[in-house]
Amino acid sequence: MTEQVHKGVLVFAEQKDGNLHKVTFELLNKGRELAQKLEVPIYAIVLGPKNMAVEELIYRGADEVFYGEDDAFNQPDELLYKENIVTLINRIKPEICLFGATSFGRSIAPRVAGSLETGLTADCTELRIDEDRKLIQIRPAFSDNILAHIKTKTYPQMATIRYKEFSEAKRDPQRQGKVAKVDAILLESPAVRILKQLQSNETDITEAEVVVAGGRGLKSPEDFKMLKELATLLGGVVGASRAVVEEDYISSDHQVGYSGNRVKPKVYIACGISGAPQHLAGMREAENIVAINTDPSAPIFNIADVGIVGDLYEVIPMLIKKVSNE
Ligand code: FAD
Repeated sequence: MTEQVHKGVLVFAEQKDGNLHKVTFELLNKGRELAQKLEVPIYAIVLGPKNMAVEELIYRGADEVFYGEDDAFNQPDELLYKENIVTLINRIKPEICLFGATSFGRSIAPRVAGSLETGLTADCTELRIDEDRKLIQIRPAFSDNILAHIKTKTYPQMATIRYKEFSEAKRDPQRQGKVAKVDAILLESPAVRILKQLQSNETDITEAEVVVAGGRGLKSPEDFKMLKELATLLGGVVGASRAVVEEDYISSDHQVGYSGNRVKPKVYIACGISGAPQHLAGMREAENIVAINTDPSAPIFNIADVGIVGDLYEVIPMLIKKVSNE
């Protein structure tokens, strides 16, 4: 799509079990600012189970909500979502489409962009409109050392936006807008659905308050069980460095860092992780960082609030014992 027949800003509203993901309210806040500059409407697409409270999207700033209603959308089935989103985008023809850079958003946005034959800028941290009404998509590049300013020639201009980068749109229950129910396009892929359902039961690492992350200091994939035990006791989830994801110790949705998830938990416990800049890019904003490493000169200690120089195989069982007894 090259010719600009497109108008409006569109936000993809992510939901789970009928509850909107908070990144949606951040996208609506930023999207509204862009729409006001361009003097165009702001739309939201939500694909969710029956009887979702989609008016919330209007209270948070959307002018019109396109609601595909079916319990099939309880499964994060990328192909199903892609098919429905592409159909709606072709109908609405927005000039800008925004997705959250969550695990799911990162998974569907490229599929949608591919189908629409348009560009996509991933992981944006700022968006602006230039004097030619084009979207400037700003994102860190080269391990966060520079900020790339990107413009796409094709329409719609698509971007994924990092979670917790913008403030949420304020809620105004007096706001008026339209809700258009749209026919869901349903695909038959029961095997994929069952698999996705199993995966979706895991807590989203970007929402976790405690992350216990393992790196190459772990000797085998089974040793993640020890980290999982500590994480569960603390009400958290397990994270990982890319080194162990690449060695197939654990799936990539656990990866923290520049090319993985960006997390901001209350506590981040880095176990056997050296602290490469690409890893720090995903976790340096954690409120409290605990590092366990045998090497006292490991860079992770430069940003740790609590540093333990020691063998994780001794320290973690001690922590598990201590937390279990409290
Ligand atoms: P290592 O650097 O090998 O560190 C292992 C650490 O474990 C060492 O410090 C060692 O002292 C310690 N250790 C060993 N045994 C023990 C023990 N028994 N007890 C305690 N400590 C022990 N990396 C990411 O993590 N996330 C990303 O998103 C990411 N994106 C990247 C993107 C690009 C473009 C590139 C080029 C790289 C990226 N990387 C990313 C890779 C990154 O540069 C590092 O290679 C990686 O983070 C190293 O992982 P690690 O700390 O687990 O391993």
